[in-house]
Amino acid sequence: FATGGKSKEALGSDGTVFKLLKKHGYLIKELKPGLSPIRVYENTKGIENERLKGKISLLIDKKIVYQEFGEILVKKDGLSGICIMNCSSIILRSKNFKKAIISIDLFNEFTLEELENKFKKYNDLAGFSFLEGIFTLKMSEFIRKNSGAKNLYKFDNRDVKNIVSYVKNVTFTYKENYGFDDSQVTIGGIDLSYLKETLESKIEKNIYFVGEMLDVDGLCGGYNLMLCLASSSRVFTSLN
Ligand SMILES: Cc1cc2nc3c(=O)[nH]c(=O)nc-3n(C[C@H](O)[C@H](O)[C@H](O)COP(=O)(O)OP(=O)(O)OC[C@H]3O[C@@H](n4cnc5c(N)ncnc54)[C@H](O)[C@@H]3O)c2cc1C
Repeated sequence: FATGGKSKEALGSDGTVFKLLKKHGYLIKELKPGLSPIRVYENTKGIENERLKGKISLLIDKKIVYQEFGEILVKKDGLSGICIMNCSSIILRSKNFKKAIISIDLFNEFTLEELENKFKKYNDLAGFSFLEGIFTLKMSEFIRKNSGAKNLYKFDNRDVKNIVSYVKNVTFTYKENYGFDDSQVTIGGIDLSYLKETLESKIEKNIYFVGEMLDVDGLCGGYNLMLCLASSSRVFTSLN
């Protein structure tokens, strides 16, 4: 069996094979849409389609569990991008948590103090909002609003301090993953305890399982295709 998971049904796999396998006595670990964009509680409509670069930290119940530097794509109701999709899988694998937060540091290369000095200098020099020299107007407005500054074209020192604190820690609260149609890998699948090391079934002779249908999934970076190749190679070797 190499019938895949349940992600992107349009490409062929809808997960129906798992129903058949359940009837044959296999334990199927719950299928979830891994590596997908996420919906967040905050309103992102004003900055839809923005592409941001930064260091993201995933906090589950206030504890940092994952960090990655990358590009974040803002959607009308959430976030996407490779680093966000990686977070989505980690969140779905986490159990019994209350709150997951994505924190984005848009200026990871500077400390708070360094950035404050820089922004103060820009603010003194610029005859217009210095934020607009760095971000789009939409994003500048978003930052102004969320950092509490009143006027995009006139920041005082306190505004600059608040802007610096905000851009070093732009937070979004996780609501849910997008569904299987937007996911790049299925979390869950056939429980490995039902398989021998050769990937032959322990309960049915001459039946083998490979690829995404196994209860194994990786983050972005070629690991999921590698699993397909490695598991197929394992079966090929044992059959020969
Ligand atoms: C958009 C997208 C981008 C991705 N990018 C990457 C990437 O960059 N790197 C990476 O490592 N991984 C990536 N992946 C994941 C990777 O492509 C999959 O994990 C991998 O292709 C799974 O291979 P598979 O052979 O196990 O299953 P599949 O490729 O899903 O093949 C299963 C086949 O079985 C067929 N089938 C299903 N049910 C039945 C049935 N009942 N009867 C007969 N045939 C059936 C299906 O039609 C399909 O042809 C991506 C996935 C998606 C969707």
